[in-house]
Amino acid sequence: MDTYSRFPVAFRRGRGVWLWDERGRRYLDAVAGIATCTLGHSAPALRRALGRQLQAVQHVSNLYRIPEQEALAAWICEHSCFDRVFFANSGAEANEAAIKLARKHGHERLGADRPVILTARASFHGRTLAAVSATGQPRYHRGFEPLVSGFRFFPYNDIAGFDAVLDAVDPDAGTPVAVLVEPLQGEGGVHPGDPAFFAHLRRRCTERGLLLIFDEVQIGMGRSGALWGYQKLGVEPDAFTLAKGLGGGIPIGALAVKRHADHFVPGDHASTFGGNPLACRAGLTVAGELMRRDLVAHCESMGVLLREQLDQLVQRHPSRLAGTRGWGLLQGLVLQPGELKAPAIAARALEERLLVVPAGPDVVRLVPPLTIGPRELQELVRRLERAIIALG
Ligand SMILES: *Cc1c(COP(=O)(O)O)cnc(C)c1O
Repeated sequence: MDTYSRFPVAFRRGRGVWLWDERGRRYLDAVAGIATCTLGHSAPALRRALGRQLQAVQHVSNLYRIPEQEALAAWICEHSCFDRVFFANSGAEANEAAIKLARKHGHERLGADRPVILTARASFHGRTLAAVSATGQPRYHRGFEPLVSGFRFFPYNDIAGFDAVLDAVDPDAGTPVAVLVEPLQGEGGVHPGDPAFFAHLRRRCTERGLLLIFDEVQIGMGRSGALWGYQKLGVEPDAFTLAKGLGGGIPIGALAVKRHADHFVPGDHASTFGGNPLACRAGLTVAGELMRRDLVAHCESMGVLLREQLDQLVQRHPSRLAGTRGWGLLQGLVLQPGELKAPAIAARALEERLLVVPAGPDVVRLVPPLTIGPRELQELVRRLERAIIALG
């Protein structure tokens, strides 16, 4: 179906941060499957582990114990503040699970007949009906009304604005039960969360018995330069969702919760494919490589380097570029207001054999594999500069 406006190129082979198209031309990939290919393309560890898994067993359903799933859940819990994990297949599905959990929390713990979940303006939580209803961007809603009810939107990083929205929920119309929020807004323009704002969210949620749920679908799994985005903010949520980077390019999603937020009982939620042996083997392999190769620290130092080079790029082109924002290897190059838009830069970059993806009209998003090295980063910025210059 005609759901994507695609670039006229198809990739047949990948290695590390490089992709080759059908004519054998080589591209530097700063999209990485939109922040999914954590270890780069065709990572040897992933190839080996998935090959072995395919020879053993791929899918059995959740009617039976799945040791790979138990091991991945154990790894997530051991390295985070959480105690239990539910596996899905995508970010939107993980957020669907979080939304159901929040509603159950409201019904059972807060006696809420009409639970209300607060989410941020300019947020992005996915495209299923509930996830899109949670997304604070009207352009994703248009044509799909009626939306799922029970969401209210607050301004991101705005303490007084959040309090105003929380306090304005009319008790006759609904009861706030949860806040669902990205530690760094990715699709919405690469806006890092403000620690003071998030400390305030934590305080207000604890005070009122609301679940604080972080959507770490894009920023989780090392991309921020910390293993989890919440560590950048110094605030522990009650639950978080993961997906993009978790499987290194194999579809997987997850909802992790602290014990006190573990409200699901058998029959409440399910997924045929969720947590299958193949996807969980992929997750375990990505996790293992992050630890073995110290890739989170590597991501942090490469992020600093990328940021320095982008700042210099901004200094060289002040009439076109306004600045940079981001954490680790999720960086946004912010354009000056004007004619030049991020989709045009992405299209021109393709001709320079560089893949980048916009985050809204005014931000070029850079999310290379966490394995990228300093020489490749330099080459990335060189190609990006050529694209910007070529656009006049
Ligand atoms: C990409 C993304 C989603 C949606 O994930 P899908 O796997 O496309 O469903 C949700 N939340 C955030 C923060 C994302 O970046």
